[in-house]
Amino acid sequence: CRDTSGLLPVLGRDVTVPLVTGGEVTYAALDYAASAPALQRVWDDVAAYAPYYGSVHRGAGYLSQLSTELFENARRTVAGFLGCRAEDQVVFTRSTTDSLNLLARALPAGCQVFVFETEHHASLLPWRDARVTCLDAPRTPRQAVETLERALADRDCGGPALVCVTGASNVTGELWPVRQLAAAAHAHGARIVLDAAQLAPHHPVDVTDLDVDWVAFSGHKLYAPFGCGVLAGRADWLRAAEPYLAGGGASRSVTRSSEGTVDVEWHENAARHEAGSPNVIGAHSIASACKALTETGWDTLVAREQHLIRTVSEGLAQIPEVRILSLFGDDAPRVGVISFVVAGWSSAHLAAALSAEYGIGVRDGLFCAHPLVRTLLGGDPQTPGGCGAPAAASGGKSLNAIRVSFGAGTPDEHVVRFVDAVR
Ligand code: PMP
Repeated sequence: CRDTSGLLPVLGRDVTVPLVTGGEVTYAALDYAASAPALQRVWDDVAAYAPYYGSVHRGAGYLSQLSTELFENARRTVAGFLGCRAEDQVVFTRSTTDSLNLLARALPAGCQVFVFETEHHASLLPWRDARVTCLDAPRTPRQAVETLERALADRDCGGPALVCVTGASNVTGELWPVRQLAAAAHAHGARIVLDAAQLAPHHPVDVTDLDVDWVAFSGHKLYAPFGCGVLAGRADWLRAAEPYLAGGGASRSVTRSSEGTVDVEWHENAARHEAGSPNVIGAHSIASACKALTETGWDTLVAREQHLIRTVSEGLAQIPEVRILSLFGDDAPRVGVISFVVAGWSSAHLAAALSAEYGIGVRDGLFCAHPLVRTLLGGDPQTPGGCGAPAAASGGKSLNAIRVSFGAGTPDEHVVRFVDAVR
């Protein structure tokens, strides 16, 4: 697979960093799962628009009109990118975490929520006001579907229910059987929200094709900057819910009654949950990244990423001390996210050495998925414990892992340097 990293260039390709061993080296950003570098194209689009930006839905001036149009166009672009149905809403939020918290606030009364223990905390924790059933980590995609089916069959019938599931794990990179889980949810009268924070940057996500009710993702993992995310999907629960934030923009009309109370009529469209001045730069950046990914073509992007995955996984497999973490088996389909431990090494020390001696940026820890990483490390998902403890403190057993992650714009040299450095 030829090196197509230049097809969709990212920022920071020429950044050099000092090494403790002397000299400097170009930085190898291999922590895309935390935040991917922004695309050059996104930067250019934002730079072209920046002199013209103005308030959205809050001004009569030309630039304000232009910005309003740009913001609403961005919404349409995202709807197209996600294959939204005509009746869906696209709400701009701050991030995946924000999107899922918004949905949690929009649950109908008595809603039961089903999540696997393997979820990122952003999918695991927002449902505090609902009855939550936390499902065991499955060991095959089929087991995931069977586990969900059993849990849904056992639930109190009749009431509303929501399944929240990740499309690609931020720890193992493994793909989850979203279409089958959606079919299982719907067969039992439940709805499903897809956490696509790690899936959307690596694979096409089509809500109609997958038949999911909502999808959430973050701009900063989809090659756009921080501060903007998306919740897209069914309008009915969103329309019926109290606004996520109360304030200007969410309200159609506000009056003071003769009894001295404040009466509000809220919008019924996405603006209901977008109170405050909208982040037009963020929305424009996300739309720009969506267009760039679509125009480059998913086939090209996926083929290139699979080549990088093979280079890393085959390289690591040749190092006897390395154990790659997986739920579904080493050969399970995954995106460019790979976590591992190295016998005899603290993950924190190894990650620090990769940075200081090789200019490679990876992440170590429990990756905001504590129960999953504990399960994968052979520990108990129910035992609390922090990140970063050295292996010696646990009798040589790793308490955390290292994660390497990559995607569009990653050159071969970065992953080759990484494998050599670990070796
Ligand atoms: N879900 C998954 C699977 C993630 O990987 C992340 C980020 N690591 C999130 C949700 C939360 O994203 P954000 O921090 O942008 O809200």
